[in-house]
Amino acid sequence: MSKPPSEAGGSALERVNVTKTFLPPLGEFVEYLKKIWDSVWLTNQGPLLQEFEQKTSAYLGIDTLQFVANGTIGLQLALRAADVLGGEIITTPFSYVATTSSILWEGCSPVFVDIEPDSLCIDADKIEAAITSKTKAIMAVHVFGLPCNVEEIESLAHQYGLKVIYDGAHAFGARYKGRSLLDYGDISVCSFHATKLFHTVEGGCIITKDRRIARRVELMKHFGHEGDNHQMLGINAKASELQAAMGLSYLPYIEQNIAARKQITGWYDEYLDGERVTQLKHHPDFEPNYAYFPVVFRTEQQLLNVLATLEAKNIFPRRYFYPSLNTLPYLENFQHCPISEDIALRVACLPLYLGLEKRVVADIARVINEASDV
Ligand SMILES: *Cc1c(COP(=O)(O)O)cnc(C)c1O
Repeated sequence: MSKPPSEAGGSALERVNVTKTFLPPLGEFVEYLKKIWDSVWLTNQGPLLQEFEQKTSAYLGIDTLQFVANGTIGLQLALRAADVLGGEIITTPFSYVATTSSILWEGCSPVFVDIEPDSLCIDADKIEAAITSKTKAIMAVHVFGLPCNVEEIESLAHQYGLKVIYDGAHAFGARYKGRSLLDYGDISVCSFHATKLFHTVEGGCIITKDRRIARRVELMKHFGHEGDNHQMLGINAKASELQAAMGLSYLPYIEQNIAARKQITGWYDEYLDGERVTQLKHHPDFEPNYAYFPVVFRTEQQLLNVLATLEAKNIFPRRYFYPSLNTLPYLENFQHCPISEDIALRVACLPLYLGLEKRVVADIARVINEASDV
């Protein structure tokens, strides 16, 4: 750690949020819009959607993906396509609410298994004890783009005949053992929401190597029918040509965006006092995407003090993820997850986006390094 430079003073800062959506050059987006105006093809498996699916798969180094309307409906379709409705789904309490709500929305029962304090992902060593005769799947999250223990999860799933669905909403561009993190599990789902590292305004994708599951997703996302042949119950989960246009104009910039975030992450690493906050440990075989910069404070009071001091400077980190999802008020029974409940009180994501200035990072680090616990 090196001491952050002292405050420059002077001009008031413009508001700094936890993230700032990347927008590609407008002219490049407009070029794609012209194609839509020429073809008058706005949705339903159009040419831009096909080009987007193909280019995004190539970027990720996977065979195919299916572009859908958003990540949440992607998770819902994944549960249906994997044929696990009505069962217990083992999942993590430390995530965005959509992980749990998609399980409930599909009429399944979430069974929470506590997290590892080092990665904040589900603790694979605790999964086996939660398996019952009703367990049908494991829905784990690569939270903040950090990898779950994919090997242990795969071996448990194999042993007990469970499906593995990864909520990879944060995992775009992250790689583990040389492969995209989205290439693991029976199904992986990513989100392309505007707050995510890579986005299509709203959107998401479903990735699977299982041809039967892929076929079911293909039908289900389009009302379950092909022409007049109604094969199964479906819904509308299609993404439009306009969403594909945003994705196609952003994709050429993803690497440079990740590189910029890596640099900013380096500034935080340089300035933050490691005694004050815990940063998450990275696995040696893991290539991060620098989507988030989570820090775990020693106490909730320390976190609240830091948030209040930064807010006065017009800087707004976010409490991600709070509260722990096992405490949601609409769950039927309370399942205690002490590690997740504790960490959810003490964790926040610091601002991280292309264009964030080094002096702002220094300012944030100084506030954290000097914050009191009381
Ligand atoms: C954003 C997010 C989702 C939902 O994705 P949408 O595209 O917004 O529907 C699901 N899970 C996690 C962990 C997320 O962060």
